[in-house]
Amino acid sequence: MTDRMTDRVVTALQALVRIPTVSDRDPARVDTDAFDRLLAELATQFPLLHERLDLTRVGSHGLLLHWAGASAERPVVLMAHLDVVPVDGDAPWRHDPFGGEVHDSPTGPAIWGRGTLDDKGCVAAICEAVEGLLEAGHVPAQDVWLSFGCDEEVSGTAAVEAVEVLRGRGVTPWLVLDEGGAIAAGAFPGVKAPLGVIGVTEKGTTSLELVAEGRGGHASTPARNGPTARIARAILRVEKSPFPASAPASTLELMRRLAPHVPLPLRPLLGRADRLAPVVTRALLAAGPEAAAMTRTTVAATTLSGSPALNVIASTAKAGLNIRVMVGDTVAGVVEHIRKAVDDDSIRIDVVESGEPSPVSPMGDAFELLEDCIGDVFPDAVATPYVMMAATDSRHFTAISEHVYRFAPFRMTKAQREAIHSYDEHIGVAALVDGARWYTLLIERLPR
Ligand SMILES: [Zn+2]
Repeated sequence: MTDRMTDRVVTALQALVRIPTVSDRDPARVDTDAFDRLLAELATQFPLLHERLDLTRVGSHGLLLHWAGASAERPVVLMAHLDVVPVDGDAPWRHDPFGGEVHDSPTGPAIWGRGTLDDKGCVAAICEAVEGLLEAGHVPAQDVWLSFGCDEEVSGTAAVEAVEVLRGRGVTPWLVLDEGGAIAAGAFPGVKAPLGVIGVTEKGTTSLELVAEGRGGHASTPARNGPTARIARAILRVEKSPFPASAPASTLELMRRLAPHVPLPLRPLLGRADRLAPVVTRALLAAGPEAAAMTRTTVAATTLSGSPALNVIASTAKAGLNIRVMVGDTVAGVVEHIRKAVDDDSIRIDVVESGEPSPVSPMGDAFELLEDCIGDVFPDAVATPYVMMAATDSRHFTAISEHVYRFAPFRMTKAQREAIHSYDEHIGVAALVDGARWYTLLIERLPR
């Protein structure tokens, strides 16, 4: 990439970060003016892209852009989102979260601010790749679609609309690429090489509410087994009945690919991970909550409610359960498991939010193209599939494509990954430029 392109992608990201496009579940609380300004800024930064690509608005401020290629047979969709999560006013940010300033970081100069990694960095890098290729007169071998949502952080519907538009036009993507994985340094203890983790599936997010009802009344004359006691017992029973664990195929493949890079004593075990699934599963379960979550559906009791007053017995008590459904499980199966665990007919189970896990995308030619581009731009990284714990907009695209992958081509340290949705979020200037190079290479290498 030329210096001019480097400057442009950095300037563009700085400008995007300075516009606080914070999404909210309540549309009345969204600063729509900020989103208007963001779209105008994108058009200013990437004029050719806006002149040549065919633009469809989706949702309130989402964009679906179409770049006609030499062929429409194997279309690709590059995704990102324009919205960000809010900034906690008490969090100790080192630099203005909406300043987009360049300051030093442990890995060199970096752009600081909310959205630099999640996910305006992807927006800027994708647009830079397209703008640069347009300037060079490149015609992609296949149709390229850019899908930029405006409400990803609040599980909104812009991406759903984008899918409907594509379905209406008969587009069946050969490859869908969204945020998710990264070039992650320090991902595994004892492994020096960064991992290029590509999400091939993501867990489903489901929320249940346990509801117990009773007579309530004056707190001076309590009866045994009231609604609050039954809810408390139910929560403990759920905690004592974890979902069965088993490492899915993509986790075992990750272990196998890691084998040459782990300390010697571990190599034989990981090298045969596919044949030693039960041993690997037990090891992951023992390695802490993060590793354990890779092996099974998880349940967290989150919200609790009972009586509104200290001297009143609740007539209704409720507990919210936030459940991340593992590939292989279903929402119906989860409800059945919880019902059995609670083992109390007087407790009602309401499904508040229902999300199935995404199907596993295969490690075929689309996946191999991602791997090849990782090998070229990040030669020290170990590319590998993995199961994503968090949700992305790309889950909606599994309705029209079997090849949905989650990977942002940016080097991130552990501290940087932890800063996402937290404070001190920043992306290295060199990392951003590498990311733009990676998307450029991906588009250049689309199969004929
Ligand atoms: Zn995101």
